[in-house]
Amino acid sequence: MSSSVIVIGGGISGTAAAWELARHGVSVTLLERGDLASMASGWTLAGVRQSGRHPAELPLAKAAIRRWETLDNELNQDIEYRQHGNLRLALTPNDVPAIQQVVADANAAGIAATWLDGADAVHEVAPALTSNLVGASFCPTDGHANPQLTVLAFAEAARRAGAEIRTGVEVLGIETDGRRVTGVKTTMETIFAERVIVAAGVYAPRLLDPLGIHIPFTIVVVPGIQTQPLEPMLDQVLGIPSGGFAGRQQADGRFRITGSSTPWTATDHNADNVMPTLGQVGNVVAWSTRLIPALAQIRATRIWGGLIDKTPDALPVIEATPEVEGLVVAAGFSGHGFCLGPVTGEILADLATEGVTRHPIGPFARARLDEVTEAEAVTLHG
Ligand SMILES: Cc1cc2nc3c(=O)[nH]c(=O)nc-3n(C[C@H](O)[C@H](O)[C@H](O)COP(=O)(O)OP(=O)(O)OC[C@H]3O[C@@H](n4cnc5c(N)ncnc54)[C@H](O)[C@@H]3O)c2cc1C
Repeated sequence: MSSSVIVIGGGISGTAAAWELARHGVSVTLLERGDLASMASGWTLAGVRQSGRHPAELPLAKAAIRRWETLDNELNQDIEYRQHGNLRLALTPNDVPAIQQVVADANAAGIAATWLDGADAVHEVAPALTSNLVGASFCPTDGHANPQLTVLAFAEAARRAGAEIRTGVEVLGIETDGRRVTGVKTTMETIFAERVIVAAGVYAPRLLDPLGIHIPFTIVVVPGIQTQPLEPMLDQVLGIPSGGFAGRQQADGRFRITGSSTPWTATDHNADNVMPTLGQVGNVVAWSTRLIPALAQIRATRIWGGLIDKTPDALPVIEATPEVEGLVVAAGFSGHGFCLGPVTGEILADLATEGVTRHPIGPFARARLDEVTEAEAVTLHG
């Protein structure tokens, strides 16, 4: 079998790339070892946020929000995108400078964001929150979406446009002639291709290391909790300065909440064994009931662990690899790659077909990591 481009990974990055390629008439096959959205793109909180982004990611996040605003129409599927804002909450006066800086940075980047001074101002926007607040940043153009629906919608749109989407097929290795890509070897067969996109999340190093391409990331696990459905009470995505809690209410009324990370050392990353510690779960529960008192009486219906592929500077690697021609990589999103997904798809498709992209991806070249010594922490803000 052969295909012009093979995409490895059926998360948001891979399915968005498959859609871009297929809608531009490129023959593409996407291979996913499990189900679509079975790893980070299913575990995610699925916040869609520009505010508080690293400056290097801002142009991509801004371009992504423009895509999110019409993605339902583009993919012909309701993906439950809601653009009601992101609140970063100040619980003590000590929290205020960092959060006011988020507002200043957003405004300097041309993004409308305001500082809500005092609990009353926050309550006007989000009445369900605790009164024990000093204030909050509010970026009304941020939002959230349903991650599973989004990934399935990208995959389905790609399929309609001619892509082959195959689940339950694991890529065991990328084949080269020593200089350029020739295809991939799967559990079933060898598939020939001139271009291969690696959008394999935490498994990217397994595919790249044998080619001498090393992305230095560490893996951490964060907790995810979902509640029973409730009446609508919170429109925004919530975060706190430490990044130790983030949460939102889904379109179906369930709360979806997450919290701080701990190192993950296991090498088997199946959904069955990836679970948070009870201490992590306890912290998320404590934060959620402190911030939204009504949640104390509510039942949790699902708990899971989500793995995050964290690079030393918490920025992704997105590039056409200099070592192997025809090989394109997007990995190491460090806990904030869901929002970027639609644009990651554009970039990957550009790089696979043209070798260059219209988006500014210089800061995401892997070579920069040779210079990075400081390890940035994982901070989830939705
Ligand atoms: C709890 C949590 C909260 C988060 N919150 C946010 C948020 O609010 N906002 C935000 O923007 N981001 C958030 N993120 C990060 C975001 O979810 C990820 O950055 C994004 O989903 C990464 O998508 P991806 O497609 O690159 O990777 P993934 O979704 O991990 O997809 C990779 C896919 O590749 C497949 N695969 C791997 N190896 C192979 C192989 N050899 N053969 C075939 N298939 C293979 C895997 O099975 C997987 O399905 C969060 C992440 C977590 C875990």
